[in-house]
Amino acid sequence: MVSPFVKVYVYRKLQSKKRFSEIEDILLAEIEKYLICEKVIKYNWFWSAGANVPNASATIPGLILINAEWAYRIVIDSDNCNMHNAFDMTICHELTHQENDFCYFGLKKNDVKFVNWINEVHADFGATQKAFNGKRSYVKDAIEYKLKCKMQKDRDTWSHPSWLRRMNYLLKYNFDEKLINDIAGDVGCKNDILIEAIGKHFDKIVLEEK
Ligand SMILES: [Zn+2]
Repeated sequence: MVSPFVKVYVYRKLQSKKRFSEIEDILLAEIEKYLICEKVIKYNWFWSAGANVPNASATIPGLILINAEWAYRIVIDSDNCNMHNAFDMTICHELTHQENDFCYFGLKKNDVKFVNWINEVHADFGATQKAFNGKRSYVKDAIEYKLKCKMQKDRDTWSHPSWLRRMNYLLKYNFDEKLINDIAGDVGCKNDILIEAIGKHFDKIVLEEK
């Protein structure tokens, strides 16, 4: 489903070079293969109004929202395979979030940051498994496409590691105890009980090189 506001956003940004019906056809074709999963995928303007970076959200169970800037990128880069891989990685990342994020309601800032980062990195590994059959060789180009869209804004935050750091985790690790421990070190989490609980919650994900 494509919100009319998204169509207007893309139409204006393309300086009226495509008709509304063409824009809608391209956007619906991009998500067609996900119609078999039980989630509803919507191009929505409101939840990320004004954002000029492609983004998606899985906050509402059963629903994945794609913002207007992603819609614009899908239309403008429809012949760029890196865009398609980056988009597949985005949707599969959100699907993985909705499968089994680790829920945690702690008070210590570094513990919460650790859980946030683990959920993000686990969703990246799940996305690589789903979108690229577990082959990490697809990851670099897909993330570099996203980095290009973000321009100078790539940095670690409380909720997410930077894209460069996420790429490093995906290229150099499997999702296992070593990665979990290293992420704990990267965020300064020393809560051994929490680190152990995270290790028990998630299954190991081993990626292939090629
Ligand atoms: Zn995420």
